[in-house]
Formats: sequence, structure tokens, C-alpha cells
Amino acid sequence: MSQPDDSPRVLVVEDEPAIQRGLCDVLAYHGYQPTGSDTGEDGLREGLTGQYDLVLLDVMLPGKSGFDVCEELRAEAPRLPILMLTARGAEEDVVRGFRCGSDDYVTKPFSIAELLARVEALLRRSGQGGEAGPGPPFSIGPVEIEPERRIAVTEEGEVELSRRELELLTLLVRERGRIVSRRVLLQEVWGFERPERLETRTVDMHIAKLRKKLGAARDAIETVRGEGYRLAG
Ligand code: CA
Repeated sequence: MSQPDDSPRVLVVEDEPAIQRGLCDVLAYHGYQPTGSDTGEDGLREGLTGQYDLVLLDVMLPGKSGFDVCEELRAEAPRLPILMLTARGAEEDVVRGFRCGSDDYVTKPFSIAELLARVEALLRRSGQGGEAGPGPPFSIGPVEIEPERRIAVTEEGEVELSRRELELLTLLVRERGRIVSRRVLLQEVWGFERPERLETRTVDMHIAKLRKKLGAARDAIETVRGEGYRLAG
């Protein structure tokens, strides 16, 4: 099922194929973009790409456990919401999960309604639920940006912006005329604390999309080779 570009992306780290598939189906049905991951190692790698809004993480995984993954993800991405799946009756797992930096947990077997409620609550808390206060409108060349409606008004009409795209633009506008490094963008927009290990390609991909949407104002975002991006002053 294809979801709009802007729906929250959820990484599902679960080694049991039937459960992983079930979780992904439920999430997709409710408007999320799920991606399944079978191992802790793969989950960690995926989680660190900066592409996800939330991680659903099983505790019992072969190889690297959910606790290890949680701890390592948390060290790199302090604001990435992590929801752990723990076994019923294993209270020590819950305590350990929180100690590793998880934000919340659901116990298996869980009800779908409960899982969805937790996912929604975490996304809302992390500002992905669209409740963060939008700033005032601003313009980039001939293009008007309306943060409230999350749109860009170009010569060709209104174009919808994703939350990340709007955050990227807002940051570039705030620093207008100055170079903003990919590292700073990863820290401020994605919430990564030590982004050197991350794929900076994530930023480039988002900038490319953003330029396309800006139409006539696309060249306002300059690439400064080896350094980052700058919005023309
Ligand atoms: Ca498992």
C-alpha cells in the first residue's frame, strides 16, 4: 500500500517473520510507512540512516539484542522515538529497556489498538504529530512559504512540503547567507547528536526534493562543495 510521502516512517525490528509482517501491515493500514528489519545489526544500520520517525524494537533478537540496539541508537539519535516490544511478565525487561533509553514499551502479545495508541503518542511527543507550532510565512525569491499550511506557493501553484523539508527550509532561512553544514542539518533537523557515522546522503536527497518543489526559487539553495548548503542572501 503506498502512503503519502509525508506519512511517518516506522522501522520495525523483529526477527519473527509473521509478527514483523503483521506489524507492518497494521502500520501501513493506519497510514504509516513501515519498513521491516530482521536482525539487531540491520535494525541499527537502518535506524541510523535518519530516514525514520520511530523505531519499533523487539527485545529478543538473534545476535545484537534489542537492548544493545536501543542503547546504540540512543547514543547517536537522542530524539528518535524508540518503542520496545517486551514479553509479558518480564518486568525486568521494561526497566532495562528504559535504562537503555527507550521511550515506551508494549508487552507481547499486544492489542493493535494499544500499539497504535503508543506509536501515535510517541510521535506526537517528538513533534512528528504536527502539533509543533508553525512559524510565520516567509519568502524565498518569488516563492511564498506558508508553514501553517506546510505549503510553498510557486508560480505553478501550491506545493505540499513534508515536515522535514519545512524544517530544512526554516533552518536555511534562519541562517540565510551563511553556510550550513550537513552535520548541523543532521543535528538540528534529524536530531542526531554525533552524526559523523551517518549517511549525509540523507540530507542531499532531501535537499534535491526540496529544490524540485521550489520551482523558480530552486537555485536559491546553493551547494557549497565539501561544506554544505547556503540559502542565497
Ligand atoms: Ca523476537
